[in-house]
Amino acid sequence: MAWYPGATKMELQPESDAQEAIQPTQFIMHSIAAPWTPRRTYEYWRDSTNLESHFAIGYDGSIAQFIGTQTRADANYLANRRPDGTGAVSVETAANTQNSDAWTAEQIEELIKLGVWLHERHGLPLRICRTASDPGYGYHRLHPDWSMGGTACPGAARIVQFHEVVFPGIVARANGEPNPDNGSEENDVPNTLGRYDATDRPLAPGAWKTLDVEGIDLLTGARAYTAAVLLTLRAPAGGTVQGRFYHLRRDGTRWTSGVVERLTTAGDSFPDFAHAGSIRPEEKLRFEVAYWPADKADTTPLTITTSRARGLYWK
Ligand SMILES: [Zn+2]
Repeated sequence: MAWYPGATKMELQPESDAQEAIQPTQFIMHSIAAPWTPRRTYEYWRDSTNLESHFAIGYDGSIAQFIGTQTRADANYLANRRPDGTGAVSVETAANTQNSDAWTAEQIEELIKLGVWLHERHGLPLRICRTASDPGYGYHRLHPDWSMGGTACPGAARIVQFHEVVFPGIVARANGEPNPDNGSEENDVPNTLGRYDATDRPLAPGAWKTLDVEGIDLLTGARAYTAAVLLTLRAPAGGTVQGRFYHLRRDGTRWTSGVVERLTTAGDSFPDFAHAGSIRPEEKLRFEVAYWPADKADTTPLTITTSRARGLYWK
């Protein structure tokens, strides 16, 4: 069993002794839809449910651990413990009852510190989980297998913070990069990618289309980046939306990221797609999207009503 030295230990029994061992390979972040201290979250796990997370972080950055990180905790459905014995470490964070508020600066700092410790202690790779079982970092909504029937957790504002601040912060600190406010070189300070486009864009079924978010080239001149595309779209429920990033080289060839898949829901759908990695300055970062309706005979295009591209990049 491993206990994070930065947290107050509030061991949860009988789960801590009774639940199976895991080899932790992922870190999944949650919001608990309640403005609770870690102590209150502990009491909730102890008294009101047989579910639990490994950690909880309050609004003020106070942090407690309930279960050792090499023991299964039940917050992430199929990722709690997979048949091969690997599983996810989970953290619940205080939130308003709608899970609609942003993480406080104190919560972000603790998420980064805990994320770095998991990299150092358990060897979690510094990447965003590309699939539900891929080792790395993520948030509850990222992969459908991590929840029963889907979830919006940890909320849209925090998903943007994950991509813009929390995950890049873990990578930077784990690599020993200086703090930007320590008077570091200009090169170490990341630049911000922030694009927003509310033009209605139709997307016909069955073919990849490069997305225009104030232009199709999301980045050029960068050496590394973390980026997310967040869409609002209208389509019949039960369809599939796929997305992937690609690097267009000067000679016209390209490198493509893995495909991420999202389901459409009744009313507006809010799929999100993320990637982080290195790129050559002469390459152009673009994103493409494809739509597969629930009814294969349906030829009606879906409508993308809002497109956002958010991220950080280093020149
Ligand atoms: Zn959650």
